[in-house]
Amino acid sequence: FQVPPAVNEPVKSYAPGSDEREAVLKQYKAYFAGSEDIPMWINGKDVRTGNTRRIAPPHDHKHEVGQYHLASKKEVDLAVETALEARTRWAAMPWEQRAAIFLKAADLIAGPYRAKINAATMIAQSKTIHQAEIDAACELIDFLRFNVTFMTDIYHEQPDSDDGIWNRVEYRPLEGFVYAITPFNFTAIAGNLPASAALMGNVVVWKPSDHQIFSAKVIIDVFREAGLPDGVINAIYGDPVMITDTLLAHADFAGLHFTGSTTVFKNLWKQIGENIHRYKTYPRIVGETGGKDFIIAHPTAPTKQVATAITRGAFELQGQKCSAASRVYLPKSTADGILEQVREDIASFNKPGSPEDMSNFVTAVIHEGSFDKLASYIDRAKEDSDAEIIAGGGYDKSKGYFIEPTVILTTDPHYVTMEEELFGPVVTVYVYEDAQWAETLKLVDQTSVYALTGAVLSQDRYAITEATRALENSAGNFYINDKPTGAVVGQQPFGGARASGTNDKAGSAQNLMRWVSPRLIKETF
Ligand code: GLU
Repeated sequence: FQVPPAVNEPVKSYAPGSDEREAVLKQYKAYFAGSEDIPMWINGKDVRTGNTRRIAPPHDHKHEVGQYHLASKKEVDLAVETALEARTRWAAMPWEQRAAIFLKAADLIAGPYRAKINAATMIAQSKTIHQAEIDAACELIDFLRFNVTFMTDIYHEQPDSDDGIWNRVEYRPLEGFVYAITPFNFTAIAGNLPASAALMGNVVVWKPSDHQIFSAKVIIDVFREAGLPDGVINAIYGDPVMITDTLLAHADFAGLHFTGSTTVFKNLWKQIGENIHRYKTYPRIVGETGGKDFIIAHPTAPTKQVATAITRGAFELQGQKCSAASRVYLPKSTADGILEQVREDIASFNKPGSPEDMSNFVTAVIHEGSFDKLASYIDRAKEDSDAEIIAGGGYDKSKGYFIEPTVILTTDPHYVTMEEELFGPVVTVYVYEDAQWAETLKLVDQTSVYALTGAVLSQDRYAITEATRALENSAGNFYINDKPTGAVVGQQPFGGARASGTNDKAGSAQNLMRWVSPRLIKETF
């Protein structure tokens, strides 16, 4: 049970003039000038249907950088068929052999594929080089390596035996295939959801987001080169309704590994329920969904610390994180100073721009639908009497989907942007009376249907204690004196409850446990 010890992959700095920076920029430029034709990946083969959709960078949406091929029902059926064919040999493969494939994949990303996966994430998901490095390189490498350790922890977990009796547990993969649906905002999540299920011996049909297919292609190249056998993971693209209807109607559907919106997840759950009579087994349903993540500052919290938690928590990655800070509660006594600092921080950023310009902090949001939604909430705040925009508020989609980092101040703790998830660089602030600390904690808990992340900032340990207790069901990941984002694999297992998901903690043995069906064997001598 000795596996190479997992340590977090160090984040490269990409200092100006460094070789590592030049390598990423060179690859970015090559992608920008080129035109990728991205096939699906079924039974280890490239599958092209000729029915294609264009890929354009969110920060330069008129410029095409490639296209990807869309599945018809035939390819979806083929993906299931080949997965099931691959299942017998894959499930029987000793775990060390499976582990070696994913450890090699991690090494490939850390080495020869690092520039490629980062550049692909920059161009089609509009991440800056630092954002790409933290996500597509480091977090994905960490998932792949730590999962191997988590897997052996699970296999170690054995019951006691007695005289003349040997009890043992065999951690079998699920009997069927796993359907992985992955989001655009993290290349690491896109890689991890199929890989974690496959590591535990499962076969997978993977549907990446339409907006992440550029970097999905690099992940596929890595899995291929690492020696993943044909059919173990199959990637298909296109109409989510047709794909889901086809897969969920299948008797061998055995698990859903999902990250995406709450609405989609609830619909999937319902559809699985409606199909339950078809399945051989009760499918595992694992989902990480929306958030309306909070920051609450106590009067004792230092101005600068709160301001940094807000700007980094709300605006990194254009606020397109399930964990992003989007509702903030500030005490009256310190609110002005904190908001002044936030305005200064925002003023120090460049205008939203292209990710290849290393000095940009904010780039484009993912697509026009997201841009239009954000712009409409900003317009509404400009008109509503109980809200005002105190920073940002500008937007422009003529070249890319650029939304300025925006701060809305409201006098209504239930103002629409205090409650609805926007998934963009817009944060809403409510100022409470210092004496109303306990009431405000209650308000924080009761304002949202979500419970993903949240942060309390305070120098007063009694206040921290009260917040920790009062908000025990309000966030699956609770941060004290920090921003509510940036969970690191192996350090902060990630996931939320309520409408935010099944809280099966990505980056932990608990998540991998969902991808096995343990068999207890009792042998009497
Ligand atoms: N794990 C990420 C974080 O801690 C968020 C993941 C997500 O947005 O789904 O910030």
